[in-house]
Amino acid sequence: MEPPKFGDCYTAGEIAQKIYKVSTETLMAHSIRAVEGYLRQHYDFDTAIVLQPSKEVLSDMGRMSWCSVASNTGDPSYIFYQDDHPNWEKSHKRFCIAHELYHVIWAVGSSIKTPRRDRTAESVCDIFANELCRCHDTFYAEQATKQNADLRFQGLPFKSVT
Ligand SMILES: [Zn+2]
Repeated sequence: MEPPKFGDCYTAGEIAQKIYKVSTETLMAHSIRAVEGYLRQHYDFDTAIVLQPSKEVLSDMGRMSWCSVASNTGDPSYIFYQDDHPNWEKSHKRFCIAHELYHVIWAVGSSIKTPRRDRTAESVCDIFANELCRCHDTFYAEQATKQNADLRFQGLPFKSVT
């Protein structure tokens, strides 16, 4: 297969639209990047956290979400979440991803390979997830009152070289 004509302005525009489409399905993307940065900064721990929508999490694990934590080698850690639950909205998926993020932080920060999943640990992860989602929610509510000023790209188009 011929590689795309990367130097072509139409190709650049088309690829931008494809990437945008994927990005709207990448739930909690900023938080995931922030957790990776947090782990590097505080624990010198290098992992990429990858979202893995799945149809089997609920049947395999009896839960809506799950995670695997990599060793400190730059390997990916994975957050799996049930993708096709009939009563499940985007908000609930985002909550579960936030919940798993705390399992990852906890495991890395206390140097354990397998996250704790007893009742107490689960409810602490819920506290983290509710707080993180609440912060996002407050941010979006504030933005709505000022026409989403901080979310918008003001003054497009720009140039990188003048
Ligand atoms: Zn959990």
